[in-house]
This record gives sequence, structure tokens and C-alpha cells, in this order.
Amino acid sequence: MKIAFITSEAYPFAKTGGLADVSNALPAALARRGHDVRIFMPRYYVVDRERFGLSIVGGPLGVPLGDGEKWAAILESRHIPGITAYFIEHDFYFGRDGLYDDGHAAYTDNAERFIFFCHGAMRALRDLGFAPDILHCNDWQTGLLPVYLKTLYGEDPFFKKSAAVMTVHNAGYQGVFPTELYHLTRLDWRHYNDGGLEFFNQMNFLKGGLLFADAVTTVSRKYAEELQTPEFGYDLADTFGRISGRLYGITNGVDYAKWNPETDTFLPARYSPDMMDGKRVCREELQRRMGLKIDPAAPLTGSISRVTHQKGMDVLADSLGALLADVNLQFVLLGQGEDWIFHKFEELRRLFPGRVGIFRGYDEPLSHLVEAGLDIYLMPSRYEPCGLNQMYSMKYGAIPVVRATGGLDDTVSEWDERSLSGNGFKFGDLTQKALYEKIRYVIRHFDNRRAWDSLRKNAMEFSRSWADAALEYERLYESLRTPVRHPVDTIYGFENL
Ligand code: ADP
Repeated sequence: MKIAFITSEAYPFAKTGGLADVSNALPAALARRGHDVRIFMPRYYVVDRERFGLSIVGGPLGVPLGDGEKWAAILESRHIPGITAYFIEHDFYFGRDGLYDDGHAAYTDNAERFIFFCHGAMRALRDLGFAPDILHCNDWQTGLLPVYLKTLYGEDPFFKKSAAVMTVHNAGYQGVFPTELYHLTRLDWRHYNDGGLEFFNQMNFLKGGLLFADAVTTVSRKYAEELQTPEFGYDLADTFGRISGRLYGITNGVDYAKWNPETDTFLPARYSPDMMDGKRVCREELQRRMGLKIDPAAPLTGSISRVTHQKGMDVLADSLGALLADVNLQFVLLGQGEDWIFHKFEELRRLFPGRVGIFRGYDEPLSHLVEAGLDIYLMPSRYEPCGLNQMYSMKYGAIPVVRATGGLDDTVSEWDERSLSGNGFKFGDLTQKALYEKIRYVIRHFDNRRAWDSLRKNAMEFSRSWADAALEYERLYESLRTPVRHPVDTIYGFENL
């Protein structure tokens, strides 16, 4: 199949978060299954011409914007094996240091930038003669593409075989902008209503993508359900409910070439389920690096995380105070994020010397050592579309203790000592008390070495590869092969949804 994978970031070209990893790993896994996959993304300043071997392959490309037209170039890179990545270049819009913000605040012209990108991607596909079977869009930045495909380009013979898939990686970000900017899209005002892009008197790019795509996916089954509730879907819960018949959850994969304790070159020693000695070496090294007492008996717990409200790190810090006082455990944190939460952890480090280690910053090699050194990985997220660290942790024999939400609920199963089944621990309410009790419960299991060894083996055997995920996407794509073309007038207006 011909698949155009449209994204606002992809590793290693430009990355701010998990979307960049997916935008590399999923296209690569699909290409390995024999599909012709092309990535389309903006050419930011950080996408280095030399490093990625960029060359101009198309354009000047006229991109309609409002009443006028802007000109773009199309660049190409073959840096990712098996995949051609195309970049829409426009210096004014994308030749900036940041992707979406200047480090402090979102760029004020983000609506214009991503309208230009979406419309530019449609034009680039035509210019390059790449008529996709699947137009795979990701998050709000690409939300207008399914809308264009079904409206302005609905009659275009070039796109007659194309179906649109919209993937939601995090519904906390929707691309909401003032109505005054709608004219830039060139879309008809007929689409600006509650069954279209309009959203509480503003325009919402993600909503457009959800309503006009042939299928919508999100990155776990549980999150697909949660999105239909006000707590997780925010004000789009109704919209997610309306499209529930074509909403699918497909869990992300892990890149086991990078995340495997048997081969991980970031570690001082390697290990496998049958040869666990190396984990002890990693554990000691982690205690040393983090300034902790070298204590083989103390359960070593920790997190690698954005230190934000979403990740529940505030509640974790609050319950750790009582835990450190009552139980001989240690805790390490590797993360970046909000000061007010860091202050809580720093206070704990002061109160419990040699038992709390904090590294504030982003450090990929250290993140591997943390996974390898920990006994217990804590992930108390308020919401978690998929989550990766609980899956990395399992592979490294660090038992995940997670809130039962989104991808955490789908991938972690509760340990049962009688049947020796399960690969971790889950709790429901995110309160200081619930977390305190769950962690105490987990530590009682930790002290039962034989049972813990079985649990750790189960966890290390858990596998969710990108090959598995790619197969599920492929099945979905196949089911959309001959998209039903509705006349434009029947695809909006929610009585028809
Ligand atoms: P999210 O994308 O919501 O931040 P995920 O668990 O899906 O959460 O992915 C986070 C990714 O970023 C993981 O690969 C994790 O190891 C990595 N990560 C997060 N913070 C750091 C950090 N401070 N240093 C190194 N890696 C980090």
C-alpha cells in the first residue's frame, strides 16, 4: 500500500516528545512489511541540511492561504532506511528554533503555520505524484488534512483512492484558534458548525480531523474508551462518542533494538531473565550515581518522567514523604518539569539523606541505567494515552506500579501470587492514601524473594513490538481500501454522523 504519514515531528529530524518516536518507528515497521511509506513534515530550522542529506525535489509549490498563495519548496531525505521523508520548507513559518513555541509561549501564528502545512502537504502529494491509499494524520497539527481530502479535494481524481486515518496521541492538545482565522483554510463556511470545525465559537483542528477521517485511532484501547468521557476527552468527549463506531485503540510498540538489557550498551553490565547478576551491578551503579546509600535490602523505586500534573508527580511526592518515614525504601527521579513539584522532591531529599536521588534534566543514557537499576517503577499518571516507560520497565525487570488508566491499564496486569500471573501492580484512585497503601502492599511482595522472581520473569517476558502494532494498523488500512465517498453535504452536520 502507499501510505503518506503526515506528522509535525519525527525522530531524528525534530523531536519534542513521544510523537516523534512513533513517527519514526511506525513508518519503519510498515516499510518492513513491504509498504511504500513516505513521511511528510515541516522543515524546521533544526532539520539540518548536511546531517540529513536534504535535497530539493519539488516546488516551487503554490499553497493557497486565505485570499492569496504562499510558495514552498519540497525537500527530501533518505536518512531513515527504507523511507523517504519529505519536508515542506517555508522559511518564515518553519525556519525558527522551536517547533511550536519559543521556549516560553506558543507561536502566535500557529494556526496559520499549520493551515499552511496541511494544505501544503495536500499540494506536495500531487506535485510529487504520490497518490496515497492511506493519508495517516497525527494530532491537531494535521487535523485539517482529512477535512481537505473530503471537501476541497473531494472531487479530485488524484485522491480518489485515498482514505484518511487520524491518530490521537494526546487529546489534551487540540489546536483551538479564533474564528477570524478560519478564512485562511479556504474551507467553505458550511463546515463551520457544531458538526464540523466549530467548537464553542472557535475553530478546533483536531475536531475537524476526527469528524472527517475514515477511521480514528488512539494509542491504547482503554484511552479510546476514556476519550468518550468528559474527564479524559475534555470538551470533545461528545465528538469522540459520535465517532465511536470508527474509533480504534492500537497500542504503541517498543523499539527493542534500543531497549533491551541483554544488548544495552549504556549499561555497566548486561543481563537477561536467566542471568540476572548484571542487574545488581546496574543497581549499585545507579545508587552511586544518584548519591544513594548502597543498600541491597532497600527496595529501589523511581520514575523517569515529565514532572507535570498529567503524570501525577505531585501526588507521588506527597505520598513518598510518609513512605520514606515508615519503610526502608529508596527513590530516584529523572525528569524535567514544573518547579512547584520539584520543590516537593527536593524537600524529601533534604529530609531523607542518602535515600532520595534527583537528576533534573533530560539524559537518555541515564534513563537506561535507571530502568536497569530499579526494582520498582512508579507511574501514577492522571491520564496516559499509551505510556512507554511502563513497557521499558518490564523489559528491564523493574516492576511497574501504575494508575489503571489508558495504556497503563492495557499493558500492566495485576500480580496474583496464587496463580503466579500478572506483570505489575495497578491502583485506581490517585490519592496520597491510595498510593501509599499500594506501594506498601507492593513492598510486602518485594520481600518475598521467590514470588518476586516469578513476577519479574513475567514482566521481562512482556513484549509489544512495533511489528505487532504495524500489523494492526495494516489491518485497519486494508479495511479502508475502497473508501466510501460521501457527497460533501452528507459528511458534516451531526444528524448524519
Ligand atoms: P510522554 O510522551 O507523555 O512524556 P511516555 O512514557 O509515552 O510519556 O514517553 C516518554 C519518553 O521520554 C520515554 O522514552 C522516556 O524514557 C523519555 N523521557 C522522559 N523524560 C526523560 C528524561 N528526563 N531523560 C531521559 N528520557 C526521558
